[in-house]
Formats: sequence, structure tokens, C-alpha cells
Amino acid sequence: MIDSARLRLPGFTPGSVWLVGAGPGDPGLLSALALHALDHADRVVYDALVDPRILELARAGAVLEAAGKRGGRPSPSQPDISARLIRLARDGNRVLRLKGGDPCVFGRGGEEALALADANIPFRIVPGITAGIGGLAYAGIPVTHRDIASAVTFVTGHERGGAVPESLDWDAIAKGSPVIVLYMALNHLARIMARLIEAGRKPDEPVAIISKATTEAQRVLVSSLEGAAASAQAAQIEAPTIIVVGEVVRLRATLDWLGAGEAP
Ligand code: SAH
Repeated sequence: MIDSARLRLPGFTPGSVWLVGAGPGDPGLLSALALHALDHADRVVYDALVDPRILELARAGAVLEAAGKRGGRPSPSQPDISARLIRLARDGNRVLRLKGGDPCVFGRGGEEALALADANIPFRIVPGITAGIGGLAYAGIPVTHRDIASAVTFVTGHERGGAVPESLDWDAIAKGSPVIVLYMALNHLARIMARLIEAGRKPDEPVAIISKATTEAQRVLVSSLEGAAASAQAAQIEAPTIIVVGEVVRLRATLDWLGAGEAP
């Protein structure tokens, strides 16, 4: 329970939906608004990536339902999930739609919000710490750094249908962005790394693969653009992973405050 009055948090009105980011895993990274929503929700509709420790924080009496999309496993379609949120809100529930990381960073939060707006359901978007920022912090890698990296690009390695996103301008990303943070890229790692080298990035540029970031099972593997795919395979790195390309990765040697990493 948090002191909602002292924090001046808004009421969670019956019949409304809050689209809330749960962060990458560590419950300590939840926002006050997210905790407030967990304290008051009647229904919690959660994604596969939401950490079980966070679901345990829901109010006793709240009904929890899984609605995650996870490659390979049967899961409700996006229109089904949106329809479900609308139904639950129309039935007068306080509906907490809980998503991993930030709801609008590769999380379809925008699609769900559009459906709610279309159905005239009142909603609120509560940002969360996205894995591409929180995961880097827990690996001791600054996402930008003066003199080394003044721009960062967040990229998905996975498009609707599962292929490497060919629609992206990889040459422009490689040239314009000293730091590249890749989501959903583990399955296509070899191709993406090769594509960045082809676009002019140095083969020995450092790459970090952060698996299960901010959870008790976090693992960090440091390699290079040319070596990343082989080392991920050799180390049997498991999804979900955030992959970061750039000189900022070298700072981890000094900044690994968590000390949970593995030697390169
Ligand atoms: N909305 C989420 C991203 C959803 S897409 C966010 O803002 O973080 C799912 C991808 O996010 C995964 O394939 C992985 O690339 C990344 N991801 C999410 N949680 C993660 C975690 N704890 N550790 C590493 N990567 C994570």
C-alpha cells in the first residue's frame, strides 16, 4: 500500500482502463502510479513478460488474467485483447492492463489506447521503465555518454510475421546512431550484426547481450559485432534479451555495480 493522498495520485475510476508499464522485472522499478493501480484494480490483464513478483502485488480480490503475446504459443489476438478490455470496463471494473517495460515501446499500447478511445472508454497511460533503458542501467551501461554517444536508436529485430525488419534503413541507423538498442533481436542476431558491419560499423565494436534484465536470472554477455551471434549460442543465452551495440558497452568494465555479469 502506498500513500496515494500524499503523492496526490488520481483516483482509479470504475469503468476505466489504465495501460500501465510494469518495467523490465525488478518490482523496485514500478512507478507510484503502477503500485496505486495494483492496489485498486478489480481486473489485471497482464502480458507474458510481466514478472510474477509484480503480479503478487495485486490487491487481494483482484482477478488476474493472462493476455500476453508470446512467439510460438497460442495467445489471444490483439483485437481480442482490446475487445476484452472494453468489455471489462463496460462491466464497471477498474481495469489494469499491465505490460512489461513501457506500454508504448514495442508493446502495442498505442493500439490498445486507440481501441479504447474509439469505444469511448476513459483511459490513462502510465509509462514504465523500458527494458532498453532499465536493462542497460542494471548492466552498468549508460545508454548515452558525453563524448562517446550523443544519439541512441531503439530498434525492433522482429516485424509482424517474424522477419528481420527489412523496412528499416539499416544504413542510416548504422551511420547516424552511435548506440543501437535492439529489442526482440536474438533470433536474427547473426543477420542484424552482419547488416551493421556491411553498413560500415567496425566488426570489433562492442556488443552486450542482456538476458532477463533486472530479474534474479539476469546474465550479461559482452562480445563484438562479429562475435555476438556465436557467443550468444555458445553461452545458451535465453530470451528475453536486450542487445546494445556501441562504445558505451566498454564502460561496463568499470560501472558493473550489480556485479552479476560474466567476463567477456
Ligand atoms: N514494452 C517492452 C518491450 C516489449 S517487446 C519494454 O518497454 O521493455 C519484448 C522485448 O523486450 C523482448 O523481446 C526483449 O527484447 C525486451 N525485454 C523485455 N523485458 C526484458 C528483460 N527483462 N530483459 C531483457 N529484455 C527484455
